[in-house]
Amino acid sequence: MIPYKEPSYLKDVFNCPYCNAYAHQIWRDVMTHNIAGKWIKIGDVASCTHCEKYSIWINKKMLIPYSGSVPLPHNDLPEEIKKDYEEARSIVNNSSRGAAALLRLCIQKLCKHLGEKRGNINDDIANLVKKGMDVKIQKSLDIVRVIGNNAVHPGVIDIKDNPEIANQLFKLINLITEVMISLPKEIDKTFDNLPEKDKEAIKKRDSNSKRIIKKIK
Ligand SMILES: [Zn+2]
Repeated sequence: MIPYKEPSYLKDVFNCPYCNAYAHQIWRDVMTHNIAGKWIKIGDVASCTHCEKYSIWINKKMLIPYSGSVPLPHNDLPEEIKKDYEEARSIVNNSSRGAAALLRLCIQKLCKHLGEKRGNINDDIANLVKKGMDVKIQKSLDIVRVIGNNAVHPGVIDIKDNPEIANQLFKLINLITEVMISLPKEIDKTFDNLPEKDKEAIKKRDSNSKRIIKKIK
């Protein structure tokens, strides 16, 4: 699973909103003169020890970069879906409902990318679980289902009152990408690097067991 610690006020370590590295942060006060000419503190600045960029915090909330508290898209998220993700990220602080609608679209496209053709989130997800996706992810995806198409149906959670849900959806999309795209890619790469003779032996074993299964049937 991808370790992701969102930036939070005065925390020593978190995932940087600029470079995404899980990096140590150095906090300093932002000071100015008041009308009487006395030094006063108006906020905080955290500098990332990895990329050396600054995030600026006022009233304990990150102001710059805008949407910096929302994770960046996973590297392996397909480009086309990344665009929707970035758009959702750019509006989430003003409209969590709008962001959630875009993120639902991301999940739909992601399912399609993973070979699901039904276009119905519920069926697609059930199928992905059958293909080996963690059941825990399914549980989180149930949130997506409960939110509904545009979160305005009666009896459905109104995401306007629940901006946390939109934030969870960003993490969820990155998690599905990690489990269903990055991990298999990594495993394939490791397998390809095995010595030729071992790969041959494995292929032989697989075809033998297929033959045995056929015989039993
Ligand atoms: Zn950084």
